[in-house]
Amino acid sequence: MFASRTLSPAETRYAQVEKEALALTWACEKFSNMILGSDFVLVTDHKPLVVLLGQKPIGELSPRLQRFRMRLLNYQYCVQYVPGKHFYTPDCLSRSAEGPSTDSPDILEEEELFINSLISALPCTDVKMKQIIEAQNNDEECKNIWETVKKFSPIGGPRINRGSSKKRMTLMRLHEGHMGITKCRRRAQESVWWPGYSQDIQKMVKACKECIENSRINKAEPLITTKLPEQPWLLIGVDLFKHRNKWYLVVQDYYSRFLEIIETQLTSAAVINKMKCLFARFGIPREVRTDGGTQFTSKEFKEFTVEYGFQLSISSPHYPQANGEAEKAVDIAKRILLKCKDPLLGLLAYRCTPLESGMSPAELLFG
Ligand SMILES: [Zn+2]
Repeated sequence: MFASRTLSPAETRYAQVEKEALALTWACEKFSNMILGSDFVLVTDHKPLVVLLGQKPIGELSPRLQRFRMRLLNYQYCVQYVPGKHFYTPDCLSRSAEGPSTDSPDILEEEELFINSLISALPCTDVKMKQIIEAQNNDEECKNIWETVKKFSPIGGPRINRGSSKKRMTLMRLHEGHMGITKCRRRAQESVWWPGYSQDIQKMVKACKECIENSRINKAEPLITTKLPEQPWLLIGVDLFKHRNKWYLVVQDYYSRFLEIIETQLTSAAVINKMKCLFARFGIPREVRTDGGTQFTSKEFKEFTVEYGFQLSISSPHYPQANGEAEKAVDIAKRILLKCKDPLLGLLAYRCTPLESGMSPAELLFG
């Protein structure tokens, strides 16, 4: 138990500031879906917050305020002071027992803001969006759907319905990286829709020339027995493979399945150098797994593990599945290098495609 004592006036004021900061942070997180990624204004009747949540260096704040500022780092806001007597809406809300009526102008405005934020969050550039809108306006099927939607709205989530003239291009985009049917469908579910898109995807993947030609590496993915690490980039698998007379270092994070494909020389020194670059970018993992090529078993590499302070696990040749994750990563890397005209675009597609969890490797690694 703490002995209770009366707070000094300064302490009371500071406690009030923290309470207000908490309220603003809570509000941002509560409405995160609507404000994430857009510029907005935080309005408060508490003047000190304009500086404290604004330009004041974070190191000069109390630990609690620092935590609020860090939670607010996700958002692009500016803080504006409005004197209490002009602070009608929140004042009114905090007093009204029933809340505002749902057809008030405020609610309508909020709805519009919400819809706008959904549209701005669609995975599509402005230029592309314009092209799609144009194509939709000229497409009979789209026109019919639009008429029906207007009659029977509301409908489900915000997905772009693509005119048939754009279908082929979209299908190719969805199959970027030559991923399988399930993954392509998952990509589509995030962004596009048209009647029968699911079958179209299946047909397109089954007919893809590159996929058929290289079907031997399209085998079923091996079962992974490794326990999922609790965080990204704690446990990574590394492997080397050769493709068209060049050697590549493949690195995969066990948690997020984020993949790196890096051209390298075969010497220990070269491999170490590439890995140092990666560690500088993502941090040093707790454990690195490999199947034990000489690059990883050399004296140099051992010194590297000591210097950087990570554990190296070399899977035994009797249990090759111990490095199953890296083996699978090699398959994915091969597929990308072999089938994609632009391997970097293929890699991007892989990193941005949702996994079973619904999150993509990039989302899992970078939050
Ligand atoms: Zn393909």
